[in-house]
Amino acid sequence: MFRILFRLYLVTIVSYSAAIYLVPDVVIKVFQERFVTYNLDYSRGLQTLIVKQFHAVPPEQWPALAAEMDKEFQPLHIVLTGNDDADFTPDERKRLQRGENVVRIGDWGWRTLAVSPLNERTVVEMVVPPDPMDVSLLYWSINVLIGATMLACLLLWLRPHWHDLERLKGTAERFGKGHLSERTQISQSSNIGSLANVFDTMAGDIENLLNQQRDLLNAVSHELRTPLTRLDFGLALALSDDLPAASRERLQGLVGHIRELDELVLELLSYSRLQNPARLPERVEVSLDEFIDSILGSVDEELESPDIVIDVMLNGQLERFVLDPRLTARAIQNLLRNAMRYCEKRIQIGVQVCPKGCEIWVDDDGIGIPEDERERIFEPFYRLDRSRDRATGGFGLGLAISRRALEAQGGTLTVEPSPLGGARFRLWLPTSA
Ligand code: ADP
Repeated sequence: MFRILFRLYLVTIVSYSAAIYLVPDVVIKVFQERFVTYNLDYSRGLQTLIVKQFHAVPPEQWPALAAEMDKEFQPLHIVLTGNDDADFTPDERKRLQRGENVVRIGDWGWRTLAVSPLNERTVVEMVVPPDPMDVSLLYWSINVLIGATMLACLLLWLRPHWHDLERLKGTAERFGKGHLSERTQISQSSNIGSLANVFDTMAGDIENLLNQQRDLLNAVSHELRTPLTRLDFGLALALSDDLPAASRERLQGLVGHIRELDELVLELLSYSRLQNPARLPERVEVSLDEFIDSILGSVDEELESPDIVIDVMLNGQLERFVLDPRLTARAIQNLLRNAMRYCEKRIQIGVQVCPKGCEIWVDDDGIGIPEDERERIFEPFYRLDRSRDRATGGFGLGLAISRRALEAQGGTLTVEPSPLGGARFRLWLPTSA
């Protein structure tokens, strides 16, 4: 907040100072004539009195009288001089020779000099000296106080705005992380009330759309399961009959396709279930090494080649950790299955617990993931189109499910290059409050 306050204040104070110094100059220049006549009228009485004093004594005594008046008029100065003094401008000289008074104006349109002719050659000047130091300082302190007051006013004005903007930012962040019911709750009377209202309406619309999409996906997946089961059952019955070898082979191929479809439907159901905001993650305290062991056991049979080595690195002292075992195991299983498909011969699992949370990473020495694809692979149904990827034949839902399973617990899943040469999937779970 202080950065924005500082910038706003800087702009205000610079424009205020520039205006204070430039605007009076411009106005005085434009209305010079009016200022001069005003000052002439203003000082006419005083100048007439001074001239009368001089005319009351013979001209020989004028210097003595000027010296005496100079003392009495302090801090003004009374000075006798000739009307052809080089200090006067040609215009002023002409006016004095015509017997007219002259005033000169300075800052803010105040007079700095008033001159009256005494006879054809001599004039008396009343000089207004610049303000003394202490008075100048007082004027400056007025400016400083005005600046400080402006700062305080800006601060007062900015605080509620800042508060509302922070709230809007926080809501947008939480909404982006999947908390679709988040709303700003900013009052309509706030200066950003209408913006917040638009945001809330947009958030509501997105929530409805996503809910509809999830419900549709759920419904379609459920509806698909029944005919699939019937088909599977029907094919199993057909296969139990005595069939020619070619027909049997074709039917077995169909069974394979149906199983694949069934698997896709199951994946879709898991994915859409994870999108359900009403589903709260479980909180179970597990021993991390046993937990990792059990996950490894569950995917062990799927290991295609016996040459693949899986290392587990448990860093530091592994405490027990609170997590949702079903969701976390699902996420890690998907990562391990991918690592098994894409590695050459090494997979490494690392675990590290710190006070803020637990980090688990799955490394492999496979083909890795190109940098520009590292975010996209977490999108549902997104698969890379490399020959190896085509051979593995997944649906592109595994990583999307893993990421959701972690986000549902407040965690994250990211990918980066692995020191083994392939991909490193880094999983983070925060310590539950
Ligand atoms: P699938 O079930 O099709 O493998 P995933 O969501 O699990 O879908 O993965 C998406 C894509 O990410 C895969 O098609 C693959 O290209 C890439 N991928 C995932 N894991 C790895 C890995 N360990 N090494 C290289 N590429 C990977």
